[in-house]
Amino acid sequence: MKAVILVHGGAGNDFDDRVEACRQGVERAARAGWQVLAGGGSALDAVEAAVRVMEDDPQFDAGHGSFLNANNEVEMDAMIMDGRELGYGAVAGLQRVANPIGVARLVMERTPHSLVVGAGAEQFARLMGVPVCPMEELVAGSGTHLLRPEDRVFRPDDAGDTVGAVALDASGALAAAVSTGGTAGKMPGRVGDSPLIGCGGYADNELGAAASTGHGEAMMKVVFSKTACDLMGGGMPPQQAAEAVLRLLERRLGYRQAGIILLSPSGEVGSAFNTHHMAHACIWGEGEMWIKD
Ligand code: ASP
Repeated sequence: MKAVILVHGGAGNDFDDRVEACRQGVERAARAGWQVLAGGGSALDAVEAAVRVMEDDPQFDAGHGSFLNANNEVEMDAMIMDGRELGYGAVAGLQRVANPIGVARLVMERTPHSLVVGAGAEQFARLMGVPVCPMEELVAGSGTHLLRPEDRVFRPDDAGDTVGAVALDASGALAAAVSTGGTAGKMPGRVGDSPLIGCGGYADNELGAAASTGHGEAMMKVVFSKTACDLMGGGMPPQQAAEAVLRLLERRLGYRQAGIILLSPSGEVGSAFNTHHMAHACIWGEGEMWIKD
């Protein structure tokens, strides 16, 4: 079977003590996505299933476990993309939904819009019957993520733990999904690269699929994910494209924390990151798997 699922749990510098937990988290997510693909499901269903698992895992900065903004509040961003017809749905600044990726998908499938933010996104989620929870429930470990006042400062090199997935299904369709609580101590209302098309992620059956993580303000300036997909579309293998887009980011903007996973239309994979770790896992073929960090 030519299906492939590739997931990541964020590129970061500060989680040497959590490497094993992150490896296990991405493995669980990849298996959830693979279950969909192995059952003949779509790449779109697979990336959503994988990202939901990581949103539910407090190890990661998405859904449960989201980093807090400077007001000590959760504000989550997510996007999903369907490579068949460039379907795209996204939410930003969502505060009370445990699985923002599901709302992003509903935006794509049930509205004439692409990106819905804040109170409007929550209102739409309620309208669609998506469960809404108190924001406190999303704060991991009984408040361990709560920031002290002196820490409520945006640190650009303190990104990490955003989650993403790309998949290819048996029909040849590609999809990408990304979900994040954003960067710790961010300004209330700040939106990073993750929900922006071509920045946090991209999927086009003709080019490839990408899911990215890192310093959003820098990554959006080079349209990180779409740039990588364009390189693949021009014939560059995904591993080289991943390394090339990272070099481009660093050449134009200096060192900025970043990582990316890539999948080509023929099912080749690539990944690159410039941080200490980026847990990522891949399952393909008859269920072969690798995990890297
Ligand atoms: N890219 C995310 C953001 O800037 C953070 C991350 O990937 O860790 O919101």
